[in-house]
Amino acid sequence: MEQTAPSGMDLPGLWNRCLEAARPSIPPTSFSSWLQVSCFEALEDDRFIVRFPNAFMARWTMTQYGEILQGSLRELSGIPGISLQCVGDPAPPASPGPEAQPRQNQTSIRSNYLHPSYTFDRFVAGPSNELAHAGARAVAMNPGSPSYNPLFIYGGVGLGKTHLIQGIAHEVRRLHPDKRFVYVSSEQFLHLFVTSLGRQNVDEFRRIYRDVDLLLMDDVQSLGGKAQTQEELFHRFNDLYQTGRQIVFTSDRLPGEIPGLEERLVSRFQSGLVADIQPPDYETRMAILDLKVRDEGEFFPAEVLDFIASTIRSNVRQLEGAVHRLAASSRINGTPIDLALAKRVLSDAFGSASQKLSAGVITAAVAEAFSVAPAQLRGKQRRRDILVPRQVAMFLIRELTETSLVEIGRFFSGRDHSTVLNAIDRVRQLSSEDASLRRRILDLRTRLSG
Ligand code: ADP
Ligand code: MG
Repeated sequence: MEQTAPSGMDLPGLWNRCLEAARPSIPPTSFSSWLQVSCFEALEDDRFIVRFPNAFMARWTMTQYGEILQGSLRELSGIPGISLQCVGDPAPPASPGPEAQPRQNQTSIRSNYLHPSYTFDRFVAGPSNELAHAGARAVAMNPGSPSYNPLFIYGGVGLGKTHLIQGIAHEVRRLHPDKRFVYVSSEQFLHLFVTSLGRQNVDEFRRIYRDVDLLLMDDVQSLGGKAQTQEELFHRFNDLYQTGRQIVFTSDRLPGEIPGLEERLVSRFQSGLVADIQPPDYETRMAILDLKVRDEGEFFPAEVLDFIASTIRSNVRQLEGAVHRLAASSRINGTPIDLALAKRVLSDAFGSASQKLSAGVITAAVAEAFSVAPAQLRGKQRRRDILVPRQVAMFLIRELTETSLVEIGRFFSGRDHSTVLNAIDRVRQLSSEDASLRRRILDLRTRLSG
């Protein structure tokens, strides 16, 4: 039985997967305020050491969730003897004099929050994230330059926002070791602020954000509706901004679309460079897979990579997850990674992602492109202006999903499978004669398969 971690195992990634496995058993606010701020530190013998921002958080996590986390760790690492150890520095004294807390110490506490592999050299740039990536690099190179201050990066879940903002922190540390930064999630900011209010030591809270050269704040959408914390952020922002310090925010949506966000913050957020991250295109997905596969040290045939990149289109975290799962299941079963394994593992794990392109979604897109109602496409009418788009929808569903002819027929008001087959033939024939129909189908297909 194996007692030590296989070399090359992605240990920070292993910890993230443990957290994900435990997430359903933990209240969401505890999860984001307490657990998500932890990071893997070291594996010493069989002790898997995870660091928290302070000793209190480490102890609390061990008593509340130690058992769950320990269980996932054993299971996911495949090392039965592994034991979890949560560590954190003791909290500073309640009200230290000005000289009681050397700056050195503060910097090292902050740096614990960074994921070691969220660096720029491990970020794949492509058309979907070009501006955000260029902005982040420029900020790291030259913090505080007015043309991109603040930098506001927004985009959907799992598209690399945290990676990029932490990339700035890593790069600043490398290029400008004298510059001080704070990386903080908005949840943490809120949590620390509210705690400091309760303990009546807001000044101590503010000291963290004073005199820093960069404030890097992740996930600001979670401050929506939190009026008092927004007010605090507004003042921290102004103090820093007016003295030419760099501020970077990330969010899952545009400033103006964050519900319950004060107008004056919306306008502050928008006053610099606003850059979006879109889901990666196929080439970028393949490049990301290439990078992640190299970490695993297993051989992934090209057709498997193509299959993953074609199945998982809208979330990079899931792309990574697919690679991990495949490698793990090939190790467990002692079988090589091939298409059959990939299909099995991915449909178990990412059923919802691969089904995202469903008959319904495709029908809606076709209906829109032909200016008819989706219900008409699914209905019984046989008018030509409805018949052709209906046939196109059937054709695309067959092409782009795993749906069977029988299921497609059922979806369209219980038609039988030979009708579907005829429809598909008909579309092939029509599109070979009619260039404009052919182009419309091609456009739809590109749009749908992202
Ligand atoms: P978000 O904060 O937008 O939800 P993350 O930054 O946490 O997303 O990214 C999710 C995962 O995907 C991380 O492990 C990250 O390293 C990876 N990732 C995202 N985008 C890229 C990219 N362009 N290149 C390499 N890895 C990426
Ligand atoms: Mg994030």
